[in-house]
Amino acid sequence: MKAVRIHQHGGSNQLRYEDTAEPTIAWPGEVIVKLKAAALNHIDIWTRLGATGMAIPMPHILGADGAGVVVQVDADVKSVKTGERVCLYPFTGCRECEFCRTGRDFMCIHVKALGEKLDGTYAEYVKLPAENCFPIPAGFSFAEGAAFPLVGITLWRMLITNALLKPGETLLIIGIGGGVASAALQVAKKIGARVIVTSGSDEKLERAKNLGADHGINHRKSDFNVDVSKLTEGRGVDVVLDCVAGEVWQKSLAALARGGRLVTCGATAGGQPRDDLSAIFTKHLKIYGSTLGSREDFRQLISFLTVSGIRPIIDRIFPLKQAAGAQRRMEEAKQFGKIVLQISD
Ligand SMILES: [Zn+2]
Repeated sequence: MKAVRIHQHGGSNQLRYEDTAEPTIAWPGEVIVKLKAAALNHIDIWTRLGATGMAIPMPHILGADGAGVVVQVDADVKSVKTGERVCLYPFTGCRECEFCRTGRDFMCIHVKALGEKLDGTYAEYVKLPAENCFPIPAGFSFAEGAAFPLVGITLWRMLITNALLKPGETLLIIGIGGGVASAALQVAKKIGARVIVTSGSDEKLERAKNLGADHGINHRKSDFNVDVSKLTEGRGVDVVLDCVAGEVWQKSLAALARGGRLVTCGATAGGQPRDDLSAIFTKHLKIYGSTLGSREDFRQLISFLTVSGIRPIIDRIFPLKQAAGAQRRMEEAKQFGKIVLQISD
């Protein structure tokens, strides 16, 4: 089959479009999916660079997100049939620890993700456990089916499962533009929240407004704490989604109302920010760290997408063999929404 692989860590020039062996079923419960589309995530770039600190076998196929058609199932598999259009839950655990045995294998210390410790989705075929295959939401194309899983699971766990965002509440999203942020905006608007977004780009703020954002703040032109205070009559917001951290972290805490919740799944501007403990305890704040999400989060999300009619924002679609160009677009932060690789028609 054709796949895009790395043979060593490095720049985007390490991505090679080449022939490799198709995966074969080796364990009970496995299935093979013929991929139609894959989608990019920042983890693909960190894995390519070797920045995760994780030892991975080389050569290695990147890609956590994908959608396609089931073409082969192990004899024991009853939950999935050949010919089904599926999107992929990208994580598996050790199946033995306390988390795996209680249905929380995304919290397993040995969790493996497609494209990270497992061969990923920049390929014509991928192998994974049957329980990781979910039906593509009704009406979605394969590109859309590949575009939402990883960011969708992540934001659903942060905003809905952890922060319990409610209709009528105000959400502040720091740094609109990336996949998690733009998908969070769509979900929050659909459940009836008011959404304020920040960005250093007027163009991205404009696109966010077209997606329903109530207010956009250019953080290069004004102090978002001043603007948030004005917009909320001095009260502050109920929930902040901050996956930027660094210098912004203290300002995110300051933007919260009493009893507010801050959710984080990353720290692109620095993971060791100056904290403000007095703000945390005097304002009764809750801080939720999360990464990934459960199969139940994924099931709820698919159901919500089907009922709500939300479609993932696709920035651009590249053919598989142009994966290097697609990754460069992401590294240069030019995208709004998801970058997708088309693998076959
Ligand atoms: Zn485990």
